[in-house]
Amino acid sequence: MVLQDLGRRINAAVSDLTRAPNLDEKALDGMIREIVSALQDADVNSRLVSHLRKSIKATVNLKDLSPGINKKRLIQKTVFDELVKLVDPHAEPFRPKKGKPNVIMFVGLQGAGKTTTCTKLARHYQTRGFKACLVCADTFRAGAFDQLKQNATKARIPYFGSLTSTDPAAVAAEGVAKFRKERFEIIIVDTSGRHRQEKDLFDEMTQIQRAVRPDQTIMVLDATIGQQAEAQSKAFKETADYGAIIITKTDGHASGGGAISAVAATHTPIVFIGTGEHMLDLERFAPQPFVSKLLGMGDMQGLVEHVQALKLDKGETMKHVMEGVFTVRDLRDQLQNIMKMGPLSKMAGMIPGLGNMMGGMDDEEGSLKMKRMIYICDSMTNKELDSDGKLFVEKPERMTRVARGSGTSVREVEELLSQQKVMAGMAKKMGGMNKNMQKAQGMM
Ligand code: GDP
Repeated sequence: MVLQDLGRRINAAVSDLTRAPNLDEKALDGMIREIVSALQDADVNSRLVSHLRKSIKATVNLKDLSPGINKKRLIQKTVFDELVKLVDPHAEPFRPKKGKPNVIMFVGLQGAGKTTTCTKLARHYQTRGFKACLVCADTFRAGAFDQLKQNATKARIPYFGSLTSTDPAAVAAEGVAKFRKERFEIIIVDTSGRHRQEKDLFDEMTQIQRAVRPDQTIMVLDATIGQQAEAQSKAFKETADYGAIIITKTDGHASGGGAISAVAATHTPIVFIGTGEHMLDLERFAPQPFVSKLLGMGDMQGLVEHVQALKLDKGETMKHVMEGVFTVRDLRDQLQNIMKMGPLSKMAGMIPGLGNMMGGMDDEEGSLKMKRMIYICDSMTNKELDSDGKLFVEKPERMTRVARGSGTSVREVEELLSQQKVMAGMAKKMGGMNKNMQKAQGMM
């Protein structure tokens, strides 16, 4: 959770400033200094950090602000926007199409996390209704095919490989041809990456590329290399036509932020980030939701997608969110879903504010906390559950009753309701966007 620490430090710096009695130049400089130091500790390139510092100073120009401007809001928004710019590659990745074979080839140095990530990605598409499979083109390491086989079997994904061939391009071509014939939609080819030298790695990549004609080549980069990711992703971008990057191990190391910003600086699209060793620990990467989550503001879209992919939601919450509504019952259902979705510390980050609330807790403590939240909901009447929570403000004695009934405290009930309020606010925004979109479509 090292990236979360980075988020917490930046958040703390911003809240310290917005709470300061005098919001003056000195206080602003103090905040910027703390943000800069947090980013440097995450191994973000000093050129990028210095650019961010100047941009914040220039946008939040305290001297020339007209009196009507909400300084606090402006500072929060500026910091958010600058962080988004820092990790934005400004390049749209390839999106696989249904009903046709999409060949995706993986490259990367040994140990970067290729084989693990291949299976995670195949599973990602499989749960989204694609017919997915894996091809092992690592003929160099005897254990490589075994490892892929094991992962694939666990995830119930068809695979292809050879224990005897020594020609990776031939094995890759054979596997891809077989799966194309069988009408697979996502065909992922794993390669060896045993190379010491970048040049050899890219030579082999070019050979296999010629043999299988991939629709996309993905380079897997280990986040722990930090800023060095820039040189690697630059070289890769120059060699691969439709190249995108997955950064793995963003969970365990301070330099995750450094690697992401370094790759973004080369304008190579980052498609996913790996956030752990478990099969589900793969997150789609997009600059805004990433920063939003980093700062504990949640990722509603990501949550909704995830819940849909796992077919946990019966459609009610999604419908509500699209209408701009989020009731206490919706919060309870989502809490229950999260408990079913595995590594809690990761899922909690998707709910606005919840990541922060659980910050520093391990999965067991977090799980206990969420259980208590569910008990609270279970002590509510149907009318209360289906409400927007205002009922409790009008009649605070309801909170006392619910706290007593659930064996929790009024403080915890309040916490839950403020959680639901944040979510309702976000749902309202999303519902508004949805209505505008429908209006625009109607006009067309
Ligand atoms: P390959 O040599 O590139 O195929 O790398 P592997 O897929 O064998 O992965 C090397 C190690 O990294 C394994 O122990 C994986 O479990 C681990 N790994 C891969 N992705 C992640 C990740 O996102 N987070 C963490 N913590 N470990 C990962």
